Amino acid sequence: MSEPLLYHSTRGARHGASIEEVITAGLAPDGGLYVPEALPRLAKADFALDARLADTAERLLKPFFRGHALAEALPSICREAFDFEAPLRALPQHPGASMLELFHGPSAAFKDFGARFLASCFRHLRKDHARPLTILVATSGDTGAAVAAAFHRQPGVQVVILYPDGLVSPRQAHQLGCFGENVHALRVAGRFDDCQRMVKAALNDAALQAQRPLSSANSISLGRLLPQMSYYAHASLAWEREHGKPLNFIVPTGNLGNALAALWAREMGLPIGQVELACNANPTLPDYFDGGTYTPRAAIATLANAMDVGAPSNFERLHWTFPHDEELRQATTAHSVDDPTIRATVRHHAHMHGEIFCPHTATAMHRLDQLPDGADGWAVVSTAHPAKFETVIEPLIGQAVPVPAALARMLDRSAFAEPIEATDEALRRWLLTGEVAGGEHRESAWAS
Ligand SMILES: *Cc1c(COP(=O)(O)O)cnc(C)c1O
Repeated sequence: MSEPLLYHSTRGARHGASIEEVITAGLAPDGGLYVPEALPRLAKADFALDARLADTAERLLKPFFRGHALAEALPSICREAFDFEAPLRALPQHPGASMLELFHGPSAAFKDFGARFLASCFRHLRKDHARPLTILVATSGDTGAAVAAAFHRQPGVQVVILYPDGLVSPRQAHQLGCFGENVHALRVAGRFDDCQRMVKAALNDAALQAQRPLSSANSISLGRLLPQMSYYAHASLAWEREHGKPLNFIVPTGNLGNALAALWAREMGLPIGQVELACNANPTLPDYFDGGTYTPRAAIATLANAMDVGAPSNFERLHWTFPHDEELRQATTAHSVDDPTIRATVRHHAHMHGEIFCPHTATAMHRLDQLPDGADGWAVVSTAHPAKFETVIEPLIGQAVPVPAALARMLDRSAFAEPIEATDEALRRWLLTGEVAGGEHRESAWAS
């Protein structure tokens, strides 16, 4: 029986946490991010040749759960979370290049993998809990929909989603508001930063927590980050078996959760070559990788709005992984792709090749188009289905984007979101009484 793998905070004040504590808390008590004491190493021979994605995930994640109570449930957690595939598809426009499609889940974005894994962990962790748990999520769009879909109808859990009113696409707003039952959507009269601040204030409010236990499901949770390594492992193993060489990835990047998963999978020994970060016009990461100092700043709005991040929260984990700047700049690179280039890339591939990409995927596609030595051995990571961003894509390509079945089912349902002021006090009051600032009681608004 080997020693359990323990976790500590990137800020150093919490040592020796269990995987259960890490997944339940989300953020470490000192405000840092949880990381494992060390990343486990695996060999290619550890993975079965005929593995499905859920099998690869189970094998990959096993060392992270080793010695903890939740280890026993890991096989069923993986089966529940990875019940749709992440196909690696050849891209006809570039010989030897492929696309890793991560949008076949219920909310049509890659965040479904992490959200479903986290939800399944909570289901197993909270089996015997009498007190309901409230999960708070601040979202600029995709996170909220994935978390809502994953936790919908889960007993003992309430989900409260905060999003900036008018700043997500109409289809995204619909996705957030269409669940009901244990999922509550609040449209905040403010910006995404306000939503995030309100959630943080509530999570840090001990008096509030004593009355209504809270947790978060934002992308800083290891319970979302760890499972995201699985599709990189699965795709790179399949590629290496067929082509005898590692697979390189270009990852559309905002908060660095998806790209960090690729880098961690490589550190664990999987056949992953280069990992390049494709960013939108927000310059924090590209400036740093160009040799500048790391300077978080306010986010600017772009067409790839799920990547509108000025202070990528997982940078702290990236720095933990590669502590010296030199080492970090060798591990990966980052490039900015501005809105006119996103538009041109979407148009070009639709008109020339009949392929429709979402604006986030287009940032990575542009980098692929630009590779000086050809695209052989590279995979573009496709983070969402273009039908989620139809207001951006349809005017560019002059045609409707076909809607995948799961998304169509969501859009068929009616949707409701409650308005709320952008103050910490308004959220506190709503959580305690179910009332918005005006005092109007809305608990039964879902009945219809
Ligand atoms: C969240 C998201 C991203 C950015 O992923 P990070 O893990 O924050 O870097 C990219 N594309 C889409 C569609 C997303 O929803």
